[in-house]
Amino acid sequence: MENYDVVIIGAGHNGLVCAAYLLKEGYSVALLEKSSIPGGAATTEELMPEEAPGFMFNRCAIDHEFIHLGPVIEELELNKYGLEYLFCDPTVFCPHPDGKYFLSHKSVDKTCNEIAQFNRRDAEKYREFIDFWQRFTKAIQPVFNAPPQAIFDILGNYDIKSIQNLLSILGGPHKSLDLIRTMLTSPKDLLEEYFDSEFIRAPLARLASEFGAPPSQKTISVGGMMMSMRHNPGMARPRGGTGALIQALVNLVKAKGGAILTEQNVKRILVDGKRAVGVEVQNGTEYRAKYGVISNIDAKRVFLQLLEPGDVAAVDKDLRERLDRRIVNNNETILRIDCALSEVPRFEHHNHRDEYLVGSVLIADSVRQVEIAHQEPEVGNIPDADPSFYAVVPTVRDPSMAPDGQHTLWVEFFAPYQINGAQGTGFAGTGWTDELKNKVADRVIDKLADYAPNIKQSIIARNVESPAELGDRLGAYKGNYYHVDMTLDQMVFFRPLPEIANYTTPLEGLYLTGAGTHPGGAISGMPGRNCARTFLNQQQPVLNRLREIGKTVFPKLS
Ligand SMILES: Cc1cc2nc3c(=O)[nH]c(=O)nc-3n(C[C@H](O)[C@H](O)[C@H](O)COP(=O)(O)OP(=O)(O)OC[C@H]3O[C@@H](n4cnc5c(N)ncnc54)[C@H](O)[C@@H]3O)c2cc1C
Repeated sequence: MENYDVVIIGAGHNGLVCAAYLLKEGYSVALLEKSSIPGGAATTEELMPEEAPGFMFNRCAIDHEFIHLGPVIEELELNKYGLEYLFCDPTVFCPHPDGKYFLSHKSVDKTCNEIAQFNRRDAEKYREFIDFWQRFTKAIQPVFNAPPQAIFDILGNYDIKSIQNLLSILGGPHKSLDLIRTMLTSPKDLLEEYFDSEFIRAPLARLASEFGAPPSQKTISVGGMMMSMRHNPGMARPRGGTGALIQALVNLVKAKGGAILTEQNVKRILVDGKRAVGVEVQNGTEYRAKYGVISNIDAKRVFLQLLEPGDVAAVDKDLRERLDRRIVNNNETILRIDCALSEVPRFEHHNHRDEYLVGSVLIADSVRQVEIAHQEPEVGNIPDADPSFYAVVPTVRDPSMAPDGQHTLWVEFFAPYQINGAQGTGFAGTGWTDELKNKVADRVIDKLADYAPNIKQSIIARNVESPAELGDRLGAYKGNYYHVDMTLDQMVFFRPLPEIANYTTPLEGLYLTGAGTHPGGAISGMPGRNCARTFLNQQQPVLNRLREIGKTVFPKLS
């Protein structure tokens, strides 16, 4: 048996961020990670060491925007621990079948000039669209960086600028009601309201659907933020890949005396009375926690898989059923393709320039195609007849990730977890097989070749991961890349359920962090930081409050 002040289940980036804040306050912390390396959905690995030595691949997350909306990097001084962000400019390229294209730069003006070549009205509307979502993002940024049901914490995050932005989007009664109307609508409706041309609607629909729902889905118009964030705060990647963020966090955690124990699959949370007091891992070892057990995995897994039903019922008789039945994880997840390349893909029909490959490349020919890409997985069909997908050649911005002059290709293709009519077959009974995943990957590469004809001959090696394998690797329900769907009914103070939305649970000493908590999935570190603040507020209420007030009043001195 080992003893710590705090035990964290899972060493994803949020678990590591949370650990770092607690270690800084003097708590002893152990992170228990089921995999052989820390990082969860944020690792960079030499995936094909035999066929493609020296090529480094981001297994999941690649483009980071949300983390720049919070203070984690500065507060934890991650640059001192080896982190360097490389901002991308241009940020997005989307070739259109008719020869037009969408190319966004960090500068909104420059982007409008690109759009104006093809449609002057859309260029002006783009400026309006981005302006709205930037004011919206700045107005709600303070909410991201606090527990969602902690009104004083949220208010404490507002400064003059964010109040101005809030007022500018709220305005008078009609403007406020119109804002609510905008929130209730779908990305598709909003894009049709703003723009005339498909070459701009389609990529923006594709980015909005990163929330994991089709562009026609009401209540996710907030997906408009996905484009506006690429202008401000910008889109960046750690030098060396997403894993370099993890490495910096690991360096910090270790420097502060934290323990990161890999291949420690937590199978049970230990409860004494109505309090979580530790965990037991697969090999039988117990890790005791004096002050708290924090979970980097979502509430559904924690309460349905790691706790005895009787222990949960003793504190909340309805919670298990509500987690089981009320939390929604749709059937859409991701098929991943990684390739080692001898040269970059060349967009011959669009007057190829290497700058197209600095940011994300979106294959989104029409809003309809994007709609199908997200509708079909929900009913168990693979949308590969005419694939829409997100691709990146990260080695253009960061050549250190491949041998000299060579490149990598990262592709994210939305696909069903459970294939319709194939229940009980293939990996984990999902219907996915090696043959099928490779067939789908071939279709995706064929589609890319329509735009970049040299792609096929440039592939040195390829790895395809099916949704079922991804789910198994991450341990997430139905391979959900956000742990819990990111629809409005499961966001902010509803995430994952109102009664456990503030990182605390009815079991004393058991806390939640990670993508399944506010503000949700993506590389942000915010759930980790917010959870640590909640924990510290409970442990040292007076001291911590005074410190927070001090930081607000004398920000320069803290
Ligand atoms: C394919 C893909 C692409 C993505 N692309 C982007 C992107 O470009 N930009 C972006 O911002 N976000 C992206 N995301 C989302 C983002 O990566 C995740 O939302 C984020 O990394 C989640 O971090 P986390 O720390 O909350 O959870 P996780 O990274 O899921 O960490 C949880 C950890 O817990 C471990 N674990 C699970 N069960 C147990 C157990 N029983 N015992 C011990 N350990 C356990 C897991 O192995 C994992 O390490 C992507 C996700 C995927 C899957």
